[in-house]
Amino acid sequence: MEPLMKKLLLSLGLLVSVSAVAEQAQQATGKVSNALAPIGIVIHGGAGTIMRSSMTSEQESAYHATLKHAVSQGYAVLERGGSSLDAVSAAVIILEDSPLFNAGKGAVYTWDETHELDASIMDGSNRNAGAVASVTTVKNPILLARAVMEKSVHVMLSGKGAEQFAQEQHLVQVQNSYFDTEFRLEALKKAKQSIEPVPHQAYVPYDPAWKMGTVGAVAIDKQGNLAAATSTGGMTAKRYGRIGDAPIIGAGNFADNASCAVSATGHGEYFIRYQVAADICARVKYQNKNAAEAAHEVLTELKQIGGDGGVIVVDYKGELSWVFNTEGMYRAMQSQGKAPISEIFGSGQ
Ligand code: ASP
Repeated sequence: MEPLMKKLLLSLGLLVSVSAVAEQAQQATGKVSNALAPIGIVIHGGAGTIMRSSMTSEQESAYHATLKHAVSQGYAVLERGGSSLDAVSAAVIILEDSPLFNAGKGAVYTWDETHELDASIMDGSNRNAGAVASVTTVKNPILLARAVMEKSVHVMLSGKGAEQFAQEQHLVQVQNSYFDTEFRLEALKKAKQSIEPVPHQAYVPYDPAWKMGTVGAVAIDKQGNLAAATSTGGMTAKRYGRIGDAPIIGAGNFADNASCAVSATGHGEYFIRYQVAADICARVKYQNKNAAEAAHEVLTELKQIGGDGGVIVVDYKGELSWVFNTEGMYRAMQSQGKAPISEIFGSGQ
């Protein structure tokens, strides 16, 4: 629509969409405000071959309970006027602390039977971001990513430097064995059996049956600000030092008030090469696409070249969605005034 025509319609009171208001605010201040959009939050706990037949009803209930708890804690932050950054952090901490998911406690094992964690967070109001890669002693990597964003001049820290920064920031540090779980050790053994033994395996064929379990959250707050957070142990049997998409801004995580916020899960190498999170938001911004449609397009294209995974999205209008090209994705959402919903199985496209 021509800007002149838009102005005319606006002055006639015929077009009062959130997007138009946001655009006007952007013209006036150089910043995007989506303040009329409803609040909302979406979370994920990983995508893969997740089948009801391979899960007991107790396990299923435990997943639903934790997903609902995490999403409602995030929503509570938004409802009392807290920021989307605080909401995504609150939800992700709960998922990191749960052994059910591949982030924090319950993280997958590297080939060498250790854990190396990646995480990132992004503030859609100013496109500030923080990320950490290959950390081994930080109990909640999402808090470290946030500290990198807020307390350092950098966007990404890795390994020893990141651990040292965690210490300076007085974040809780643990022994690497804190992240151990039997279930993930079994997954590592299975992965090793299925491939040729090569020390520090550089290439392990991704098997979605190993149930990834990366976690993430996206949210929009009362000010209309978007945020995204992603945290993971990476991929089972990864080579030590391997960094996935979760801490790569634009790949596994992205937020921009002018378009959308995305957190991804799946085969990280593909998500990095195809800049999945940023590509979805670029399609919203430059092609005026609906965010769910943009996510659907990108995940379909990714599947065609062999990239498995899924995303959760919130756009500048406050629309919440999830899209995945695998058999399941642990997911939950809570939109304004509604009860939280959680799902595990089903088609994601
Ligand atoms: N994307 C993560 C990685 O490649 C894994 C996952 O989401 O399951 O490290």
